Amino acid sequence: MTKAIQFTSRVFSSLGFGVLGTRGLAPDVANRLRRGQLRGTIEQMRVMLLGNTLFAPALSMNAWGQGRDGLVVLWTVCFILFSWWIFYSWTKTYQTAGTAEDMRGFVIQTFFNSLSWTIGMALFYPIVEGGQKAIISAIMAGSLALGTTGFSHAPLAGITYLAVQTIGNALVALICGLMTGSSTDYILCILMVAAGISLFNATLEGAKAARAAFNDHERLSEKSEVVELLLKDYEEQATEWLWQTDKKGQLLSAPVQVLEMCQPLPGEGETPDLFQLLAANCTEAALGDRQKLQQAVQERVEFHDVRLSIKSPVDGELRWILMKGRPQFEQGEFKGFRGIFADATAAVIAERKVQFLASFDGLTSLLNRHSVKKKLSEMQVEGQFSAALLVDLDGFKQVNDSYGHHIGDLLLKKVAELLLQAVDGKSWVARLGGDEFLVMMNRDQPMSSAEISWVAQSICEQLAQPIKVEEFIVQVTASIGISRFPEDTEKGPELLSLSDIALYEAKNAGRDRITFFDVEMQNRLNERVTVIERLKRAVRNGDIEPYYQSQHVLSTGRLIGFEALARWNDETLGYVGPDVFIPIAEQTGLIVELGEQLLRRACEDATHWAKQMPEAPPVVSVNFSPIQFARTDVTGLVSRVLHETGLPPELLEVEVTEGVLIASKEKIAATLQELSEIGVSIALDDFGTGYSSLSYLKDLPLNRLKIDQSFVRDLAQAASNPIVSTIVQLGHNLGLSVIAEGVETQGDVELLAELGCDDGQGYLYSSPMTRDATRSYVTDIAVQGAGG
Ligand code: C2E
Ligand code: CA
Ligand code: CA
Repeated sequence: MTKAIQFTSRVFSSLGFGVLGTRGLAPDVANRLRRGQLRGTIEQMRVMLLGNTLFAPALSMNAWGQGRDGLVVLWTVCFILFSWWIFYSWTKTYQTAGTAEDMRGFVIQTFFNSLSWTIGMALFYPIVEGGQKAIISAIMAGSLALGTTGFSHAPLAGITYLAVQTIGNALVALICGLMTGSSTDYILCILMVAAGISLFNATLEGAKAARAAFNDHERLSEKSEVVELLLKDYEEQATEWLWQTDKKGQLLSAPVQVLEMCQPLPGEGETPDLFQLLAANCTEAALGDRQKLQQAVQERVEFHDVRLSIKSPVDGELRWILMKGRPQFEQGEFKGFRGIFADATAAVIAERKVQFLASFDGLTSLLNRHSVKKKLSEMQVEGQFSAALLVDLDGFKQVNDSYGHHIGDLLLKKVAELLLQAVDGKSWVARLGGDEFLVMMNRDQPMSSAEISWVAQSICEQLAQPIKVEEFIVQVTASIGISRFPEDTEKGPELLSLSDIALYEAKNAGRDRITFFDVEMQNRLNERVTVIERLKRAVRNGDIEPYYQSQHVLSTGRLIGFEALARWNDETLGYVGPDVFIPIAEQTGLIVELGEQLLRRACEDATHWAKQMPEAPPVVSVNFSPIQFARTDVTGLVSRVLHETGLPPELLEVEVTEGVLIASKEKIAATLQELSEIGVSIALDDFGTGYSSLSYLKDLPLNRLKIDQSFVRDLAQAASNPIVSTIVQLGHNLGLSVIAEGVETQGDVELLAELGCDDGQGYLYSSPMTRDATRSYVTDIAVQGAGG
């Protein structure tokens, strides 16, 4: 039988009836197809059963009273029982997996089901007369139609049913026709075949349509499977997930990511009450949002921006979820909530970091300048007493330069720790930027200077200790400027600038010290501000001019040159000494322009002197500041000015102090070398007071040493003689001439000459003179020379 079905299906498919079977389909697809066919057919089975139960007696009753009554009853009962058995067996196995076996079994049963009809036909058709034959044939046609619709879902079974009956019934009618010669039999036979063919055609068309629908469905579900996979994949990586509850709040769907964040509720199964679950799991900090959520749920209204913080039961880390939801209504009836969860953890952390960085220093976690300003502006004169200790590290730049920024950063962290240790709970510490810290001591009662001093001093001492940073031992010191509230100012924000003024003084006074702000400092600062303003004006207007102080050979008194010294007589400030304005000009950068002006004028004047004293023209010495060397092309400037003024280079001397060397020794040495090459001589000023590293002396192209006037002043005390004689010998050994500054008495001249010094400069010979006075001075000497 099985072989017969296989053969039939092969024949069918080769005839183009492939839609009837499952050829060419993947096993799982074939199973799905068969399962659908069987299930669809079984659902129709009730109609079939009803049809069979009614049609069977209707058929057999036609043969009642023809001598085969026993057979009539037997067939009818057997047929109905058989139909019910099929119904029972199939509804029982309704959950069929759709295997080929199941389908085969079903087709076999259908075959016998159909055969039972044909047996009925064979039993009763021959024994009845014309009219009844037509009735039987009509019932058979009805059963055929019933079968075709009943088996429409499973075309293989349908065709089997159709084939058995069409062939069987037509044969019965044909045989009767042959035996009786009645045309009714032939007609019925032909009708039966025609009905069979047309129903076969209908079944085939139905099968084709069903197969097309099945294929479409397959494709769709394949697509939706892909979509589902993608969705799942997305949900796993996404930071937003859908959630849904029923009207009681029970979860209908929830992302595992959120469920994993929560500790399950005791006694709740797979679908806990979402809102209770969240309420039980979120932290106290989320109380406000939790209430917002509860209220929205109770009132069944939309909610959003509910941010819940949850402590993970796995790692104890805080996580944040952002939740929004909307109540769902169907025809006015509340169905539950639906919404979105978003993982806001990264966003919250970033937000907090931004908040943190807005108020705190990223490196040390101390308060930052912004917070300081805020705190200072909130200070109240009533009952608050504070001291603002502005702490600045001395030599931090060197640490950065020699050990690198990484070590510099670590040092700043250590300093922050030390400062925090140095203060009590009411006080606070901030980092204002770079190596500048603010320690704010706060009290309810006035503080004594001694108390503040003590804290500041101990900070200085702490910081002066060698600090271990990674494998290095780093040594810095600190300078501290202190101002008090409300003693120095009643305005909090002013504390910073007052402490800054005090700090400036501390740094100027030599670092590694504490300085309290006082009003004098403020005055000095104000003065400084005015001086800067006036100085700018003076430089712009060219009000600052060189005065000249003569230089002489000690042994003979012969004039050899002049030093140009800047003089400034201001309309409002009066006389301002170069020891005041030169440092300010250096700090403000004005020295660049001023230096150029002075150089040009000095060179102009020197060309004039050279004309006055052509046989022994005096050299002009011009002071150059380290800032000029650092910021400008000194060689370029000098050669330009020499060219413009026509002064021979050998009549110009550039005076530099040892201070120029701190910037960059190599660069300075190169510049001096260039100057020397164009014929300008170079003097080292204030020798003996500066950085006293003698090693560079031989590396620099110097022509002259200038002994600082402080040594000359002390010549009366014999103690300074060895210093002067050493400098002189050193200079001579290096092939340099030596000039002493601050020569005020004839005694100085004699002593210096005795110690071997070559030349001298000072009030004994002349004070610094104006340009005109200098010209007269030169004229006098020229005349004397000509006369003598
Ligand atoms: P300096 O270069 O050492 O100048 C010598 C200073 O000693 C001058 O002071 C001069 O007036 C003073 N002086 C001269 N003879 C005697 C004396 O016999 N006894 C005493 N006690 N002092 C004497 P000044 O003019 O006040 O200049 C001060 C400093 O200002 C100069 O020291 C120099 O460093 C700086 N300076 C002056 N003019 C210029 C300038 O044009 N450019 C730059 N860069 N610095 C200048
Ligand atoms: Ca000088
Ligand atoms: Ca000097």
